[in-house]
Amino acid sequence: MRKRPFWLQLLVYLWVSPVTLLCLPLALLAKWTGGGYAIHSGVVEIWGGWVGQRLDSGIPILGAVNAVTVGHLVAGISQLHLDSSRVHERVHVEQFERWGVLFPLVYLLAGWRVHRRGGSFYWDNPYEIEARARAAVAKVGQGRVC
Ligand SMILES: [Zn+2]
Repeated sequence: MRKRPFWLQLLVYLWVSPVTLLCLPLALLAKWTGGGYAIHSGVVEIWGGWVGQRLDSGIPILGAVNAVTVGHLVAGISQLHLDSSRVHERVHVEQFERWGVLFPLVYLLAGWRVHRRGGSFYWDNPYEIEARARAAVAKVGQGRVC
């Protein structure tokens, strides 16, 4: 994440907080059902337990996912899934910071728009394309891609 002055970062957290707070109870649910949570680089990361099982079996609209971002909260199937998708999910955190509470609606509209034109709601969604592209660049920079 970009380094911002404290006051600006606080405003960004507040801007996104309604969405983050709505899903924050998932951290306790994960913990109580065998998973866990921690704060990593300013984001609450949740893994495993009922939350991980739900992500693995599929969530509405997206189906089965390794991880999903909701505001400043990222839920993953496991800690390994969170590690492997961190760059991608941090792009979604930035998108939330850009759009605030409007991002879920903006994301859905973008997906619906490409789906209406025959594309995939997920794969052709411009917000997913941005996240995949930036994650791929980060992997190349780390020497993980041939
Ligand atoms: Zn994504």
